[in-house]
Amino acid sequence: MFGLVPKMIWEQLLAPDENNCIAQNLNTLLIELRDGRKGILDVGWGNPDWFPSREREFRCMESEWSLPASLQALQVSTEEIEFVVLTHLHHDHAGGLGFCPEDGEMLVTFPNATIFVHAAEWDLATQGDPLLFKAYPEVSIAPLRALPPERIFLVDDDVTTILPGIALIRSGGHTDGHCTILIGDGESLQIEHPDLRDDPASLRILYAGDVCPTSHHLRLVYQLSYDTHPMDSRRWKREWLPRIAHDGLFLMFDHDPDLYGAFLRKDDRRGFMVERSVPATSQA
Ligand SMILES: [Zn+2]
Repeated sequence: MFGLVPKMIWEQLLAPDENNCIAQNLNTLLIELRDGRKGILDVGWGNPDWFPSREREFRCMESEWSLPASLQALQVSTEEIEFVVLTHLHHDHAGGLGFCPEDGEMLVTFPNATIFVHAAEWDLATQGDPLLFKAYPEVSIAPLRALPPERIFLVDDDVTTILPGIALIRSGGHTDGHCTILIGDGESLQIEHPDLRDDPASLRILYAGDVCPTSHHLRLVYQLSYDTHPMDSRRWKREWLPRIAHDGLFLMFDHDPDLYGAFLRKDDRRGFMVERSVPATSQA
């Protein structure tokens, strides 16, 4: 998770266990548009039972898949989800869309959702490149492939408003087709998180995906060793962190074990730092 940063430094930020693993969340976000349509950003890797036991062990997957239970707690059914917006198609972000067992029936988590993703990412994930078989395992990609074409909305441009108040912005870096997601059009965004409820309605959220997965990845070289274009991840930070701090955007982290996101400030010595953080809630 920290690429070139020596362990003796990163272990002070997130202490590893005896297997050298650190805790991570797969944070997602439920969105309700003004017209009542509901959708989700990134869906995690799905039910741990879908993975072979060795894989579960390697990845220290917890036994529960909390997304369906979290939706249930909010009285939202998986059938009500009409759109899913994805930063990229790695299985820890898109695997929750469904599962295709080798000898069983295909499971689709959100039967009525249209999937929004960048076309470059779709091509990478679906072309069956043997170099990428671990990143885009067929069991996770098959349910996507099986969707009727009208349920897949592929974005070609670098910045595209895909739904009212939601823009997909290509970052590259982590993968060639990786996107960040900007939510809020500057008016009346209501956030149902106890720490954000009282913030101005004009607040905007930037869901950064894996170009800035935790609050410990704000510095340039703190980046994932599996970024396919590491320099582009750095370029993204150069371009966007000043903007996030200056414009007061709420930066949401997809893998932070403790925080849902943070507001940033510029720091002369360290570049950018957390100005105010918002802890992850149980309904994540
Ligand atoms: Zn990830």
